[in-house]
Amino acid sequence: MTSRLYYTDAYLASFTARVTERTAVDGHPAVRLDRSAFYPTSGGQAHDTGTLNGVAVVDVRVADDGGVLHLLAAPLAEDAGGEAGEVTGVVDWPRRFDHMQQHSGQHLLSQAFDRLLGLETVSVHFGDELCTIDLVGETLDADGLAAVERHANEIVWENRSIRAYEVTDAQLASIPLRRAPKVTGQIRIVEIDGYDWSACGGTHVASTGSIGPIALLRVERSKSSPLASSGQRSRVDFICGARAVEDSRRRRQLLGDAAAVLDTAVEEVPALLTARQARMKEQDRLLRALQEELLGYRAQTLLAEAEAVGRVRLVAQVMADLDPAGLKSLAAGLVANPGVVALLACDVEGKGTALFARSADVELHAGQLLRTILPRFGGGGGGRPDFAQGGGVDGEKVEELIESARQEVIDWLTG
Ligand SMILES: [Zn+2]
Repeated sequence: MTSRLYYTDAYLASFTARVTERTAVDGHPAVRLDRSAFYPTSGGQAHDTGTLNGVAVVDVRVADDGGVLHLLAAPLAEDAGGEAGEVTGVVDWPRRFDHMQQHSGQHLLSQAFDRLLGLETVSVHFGDELCTIDLVGETLDADGLAAVERHANEIVWENRSIRAYEVTDAQLASIPLRRAPKVTGQIRIVEIDGYDWSACGGTHVASTGSIGPIALLRVERSKSSPLASSGQRSRVDFICGARAVEDSRRRRQLLGDAAAVLDTAVEEVPALLTARQARMKEQDRLLRALQEELLGYRAQTLLAEAEAVGRVRLVAQVMADLDPAGLKSLAAGLVANPGVVALLACDVEGKGTALFARSADVELHAGQLLRTILPRFGGGGGGRPDFAQGGGVDGEKVEELIESARQEVIDWLTG
């Protein structure tokens, strides 16, 4: 069995070992070693990467028998690590240290949520960018979140030691574990000195100061889950260490950029945006009213130039500058007059929309016409006898579509 060197020294980044087995896993050459500092994916913490004799270690897994499998980018040299000698393993330290910061931060946060708000951690996830803690209990609000973040960072500044040690089942009773362990026998305890006791096989920093800043990013609430026997379930996104510093820098940059665009101070951004949004709403309303009025005039112009088919005035036109809402307003303006058939289309960024409508006194089924014409141009839609609308037409085909509909209507009315 592989001796897991990180159990006793989480800061061991290079080591020598003997190869005990060469195999293949998922198409990768893989080896087992007599001892290893590489952390295999387990307990929510992702595996380490690094090198073995210079060959990239791409994945590290726990085998079914409990051994550690090192998946490699290429095979190790034939004579490496056998009776002849030892292989040298080097752990990608920035990646591992980041995992140690997130994992230690999670222990601290879970205890903080429990102590301050009585929220119980039911699961955790460590992602490449964000980490999450799932909590059950009372509703978690913004004040609670801020209080926990403040408290957790105070524990960081106290620079309490973090130690790992093994205890027996019997000794377990005297340890105030936050959660009951999932394993029995020898239990590995990770203790944040006098603050938190967790049964955990992961890697952790040596003291809380090394966790660095802890930032709680957002909370997502879900009413109830089958997994949560009682109370509200909340998911909190958090980051620690370099991730928190980087995130803070990026947010300052974004906010600075936003302020520069608005030509104001960072502090003024929310108020300015609120004011601008209100003004924009008012301008939109005004613009819509003006558009309606303008479309009324355009309807009259179109009617004056309309093609006469018997007693019907036929308006068949692509309106290049209108969107579907504008088409609708224009059509309504047209068919408010007696004896009108309106066949309109527009093209917004390559997406063609067609709208067919008729006055109450014209015998023509606009919906049926639309269902006949549009599929020929790759579109679809439907509607009432007096008003129908459809889309999905290639924007370049709208002229052709309107001409086709015009011919159809002329045939219909004169046939
Ligand atoms: Zn842990």
